[in-house]
Amino acid sequence: MPIEETTVTLPKSEIPRTWYNVLPDLPEPLEPYLTPAGSPVKPEDLSAIFPASLIEQELSPRRHFDIPEAVVEALSRWRPTPLVRAAALEAALGVKSKIFYKNESVSPSGSHKSNTAIAQAYYNKEAGIRRLATETGAGQWGTALAIAGRAFRLEVRVYMVRVSLEQKPYRKTIMNLMGAEVLSSPSQLTAAGRKALAEDPDTLGTLGLAISEAVEDAASRPDTNYSLGSVLNHVVLHQTVIGQELKRQLKALGLSPDYLVACHGGGSNFGGMAAPFVPELKDGARITLIAAEPDSCPTLTRGKFTHDYGDAAALTPLLPMYTLGKDFQPPAIHAGGLRYHGASPIVSALVKSGMVTPQAVGGSDLFRFASLFARTEYVIPAPESAHALAAACLKALELERAGTPGVIVFVLSGHGLLDLSAYEDFINTY
Ligand SMILES: *Cc1c(COP(=O)(O)O)cnc(C)c1O
Repeated sequence: MPIEETTVTLPKSEIPRTWYNVLPDLPEPLEPYLTPAGSPVKPEDLSAIFPASLIEQELSPRRHFDIPEAVVEALSRWRPTPLVRAAALEAALGVKSKIFYKNESVSPSGSHKSNTAIAQAYYNKEAGIRRLATETGAGQWGTALAIAGRAFRLEVRVYMVRVSLEQKPYRKTIMNLMGAEVLSSPSQLTAAGRKALAEDPDTLGTLGLAISEAVEDAASRPDTNYSLGSVLNHVVLHQTVIGQELKRQLKALGLSPDYLVACHGGGSNFGGMAAPFVPELKDGARITLIAAEPDSCPTLTRGKFTHDYGDAAALTPLLPMYTLGKDFQPPAIHAGGLRYHGASPIVSALVKSGMVTPQAVGGSDLFRFASLFARTEYVIPAPESAHALAAACLKALELERAGTPGVIVFVLSGHGLLDLSAYEDFINTY
């Protein structure tokens, strides 16, 4: 195949100028967020931790939001991201299906999280905020926000889940290099952290608990807001640049996809890929959307759809979502970014309506396909992204057996260059 046909890059002028809000196009209206007392959340309930602009994006039925010029400019450092045909992977699998990946690993943080970090930093700066508090599981979100903080001159404090900090000390180095402060969560600096440490000094920490710490930090200081890297509607909104670009790239190839796959932790890269395809799906397009989650934290496949807190200490509103329960303690898997008890309300609604197919993947499949990808495409996937890759490969093999090859696209949400201990474990085990 000629070189120019394996990679579709769009010119800078093709960076999307609006974000697409899927809320008005969901099969059923989203149920409201609830306060602990059980009443629907009002914008002012969120104003202690978010700027008005992001609250509007969270709750608005408007279909399109203009992307501010400064945000487009910041995104243009690495966007549009390439769509790449994984021809060498196809050959190694021995499949006739076409497999493509949307490469979000080319961002400065190495993951799709920069797409929303830049937007959130911009809106907070515009609102006169001086400092952001956040949590990070695997470290990618903290890295993305640390860089976005640099871009818009905001101080950033990151509560990093203890087990991840121990597994990936270099993430902290990057965040520190970018000027952010990084604390091991649970920490002694918040009531939620002190309580958790008193109960179990050896706790590994969880994303839910780190969220509690960051929310408490932001709510207790007027100059500080909270930033969340996944789950919420405005985060999915910012990530729709992925799906919008993907649509243009597939069109440029003259292809319509049969399967669109992304991994699912809190739902932002999946939602950002999937949302722009929802109108087509409602018009009868035959595209299967697959959300790949870890079998050890099976929120969408095994969780319950209900209103639940986003964090362990019950400081956030109750969100209508699939959840394993706010106290669920996932095992310390390598894909730290997928260790979350809940899910995006938008993705949850799409799963509930049958528009999205969740799939749990895990075990040796994961790193078997991840190392095959590394050896054929020469890109080391993040362990999170390896879930999408594995689901895509399993689908290609299944289609091959059935004699019905198709077009499969997955999102490479990040690279694994800071996850080499995971690969080291794999090499030593298999
Ligand atoms: C955070 C992260 C995820 C999971 O988050 P989502 O909100 O579900 O996208 C997946 N992949 C990478 C590389 C991440 O950093």
